[in-house]
Amino acid sequence: MTDAERRAALEAVATEVRTCTKCRLHETRTLAVPGEGSPDTEVVFVGEGPGFNEDRQGRPFVGRAGDLLTKFLGTLEWQRDQVFITNVVKCRPPDNRDPEPDEVRACAPYLRRQLEILDPALIVTLGRHSLGRFMPGERISQAHGTARPVDPETGARQAVAFALYHPAAALRSPDVATQSYEDVASIPAALLQARSRRTASTPAAGRPATTSTP
Ligand code: URA
Ligand code: SF4
Repeated sequence: MTDAERRAALEAVATEVRTCTKCRLHETRTLAVPGEGSPDTEVVFVGEGPGFNEDRQGRPFVGRAGDLLTKFLGTLEWQRDQVFITNVVKCRPPDNRDPEPDEVRACAPYLRRQLEILDPALIVTLGRHSLGRFMPGERISQAHGTARPVDPETGARQAVAFALYHPAAALRSPDVATQSYEDVASIPAALLQARSRRTASTPAAGRPATTSTP
């Protein structure tokens, strides 16, 4: 797929998400939040679901947790628009409750399609719900800061997942914040590892690798 084709395909998914009524979360949302970022990135960040600010603006990670995520990226000299940022569920759960299993199931095809289109090398999971999708059975307290190959059933054909605590958890706990900065510092190494896995097994399938930016 060319860059323009990926951009158009992502926009088609976003258009469906904005009018989706496949689960009860559509009843209470203001705006659905499809996700945003570069169509030719190698790195996708996946959070849990929109919060208050995201629901108002229709954009992911724009509140305090989003500011911290942007800061994490800054420590790597990455900009938000160089990666893709999205969530497991695209509409805000009322009062920021956890998404229910049937809501996660109803919304799953959108994330799957986004990953099929983006074909990322690295998926950075933010928090438990995202971890559950890409490293099933793992516990965040054990898995944070580590990487695992991703099941192609997720839509990501040949990706590695790297686990982070949710930035909201880092806002609540200085220890989690300190640990998260350490974990974030390991992301570039995880990306290099993910790239070499891809080139090792499918030399023709990868997009031309960019240099140091995602
Ligand atoms: N928390 C999330 O998990 N996602 C967002 O988009 C914002 C906050
Ligand atoms: Fe549709 Fe997902 Fe929003 Fe539910 S959360 S209404 S499945 S876009």
